[in-house]
Amino acid sequence: MNYRCTFRCRHCLYGSSPEVKDDIREEQLFHLLDSLAHALPGIVLHLGGGEPMLHFERLCRIVAHARSRDIIIEYAETNGSLLIDRTEEKLKTLGDAGLERLLLSISPFHHEFISYDDTLKVLHAIISILGEEGLFPWHPGFLPYLSKFPHDVPLRLEDYLAWFKPYEIKYQLQGIMHIHPGGRGAYLLARHLRLMPAERLFSINCRASLASPIHAHIDCQGNYLTGFCSGLRIGRNEAFDLEGLFARGIDLSDFPLLERILRGGLGSLYDFALQKGYRPLEGYVSPCHLCLDMRLFLYGEGEKYPELYPDFLYEELRRHRQAL
Ligand code: SF4
Repeated sequence: MNYRCTFRCRHCLYGSSPEVKDDIREEQLFHLLDSLAHALPGIVLHLGGGEPMLHFERLCRIVAHARSRDIIIEYAETNGSLLIDRTEEKLKTLGDAGLERLLLSISPFHHEFISYDDTLKVLHAIISILGEEGLFPWHPGFLPYLSKFPHDVPLRLEDYLAWFKPYEIKYQLQGIMHIHPGGRGAYLLARHLRLMPAERLFSINCRASLASPIHAHIDCQGNYLTGFCSGLRIGRNEAFDLEGLFARGIDLSDFPLLERILRGGLGSLYDFALQKGYRPLEGYVSPCHLCLDMRLFLYGEGEKYPELYPDFLYEELRRHRQAL
């Protein structure tokens, strides 16, 4: 729906924050929904962000439009912050527009910006207005941990993590929320998990990830990104013509980094990055962390690679990489 968010979570795959500028035309979103309904009848969507509630009225219109095109909206995601006030009224309006379920974020990353009490207030209101099936808490596994800290104020991640042993932190990062090593999450994980040298990571099958339609991400400008390769779009605005994308693919000669990954594997991108002056880190948590770090370097080199998108993600990671 939009990349701007009220929070700046340290695990965010898309580097969302309040500073991200949204430049979104509502007609474009309608057009996108129409294209999706035409190309993939019966498609199931999750409406995500950023924080979708930042444009509340527009969200309601989008939900209603999607329903009119027989698109199933499985849920809309929210961090809850914009439902703390006028909670019932907003939830009823969303329900009247046709939204049946909300994914409510619950984690120590989100709780740097919202108190436990406020999250629980929104959680109970969702159940009371949309019903038990109307709530998708992500992830309830954190509630017992978060309940041990003060309930009425947000909590710094450092203060939260200080209570746990390293193996408990690893379990929480990998076993509860399955944080993906992309976006800010890659650098967060690198502070807590075992690191491996680049040469051990080249055997990943990126073709399978980049060709997979599962949990694909379609953004508000109509760009198509596969589920976990954030920052690497397939073509330009291809979601307006998914039938064409699936039938013809893209011309890889326009996307040199994607071409390298797909034809030569991650090792080929590594050789190219080294030629350009990339200096490897001491280690990486996964191939996707290595891939992102190389792309970050190449983005800053000055040459324009159209597959490196969105710009704000790379700018954000370049600015904050040391502090993440
Ligand atoms: S290494 Fe890069 S291209 Fe391959 S799956 Fe990970 S993010 Fe995608």
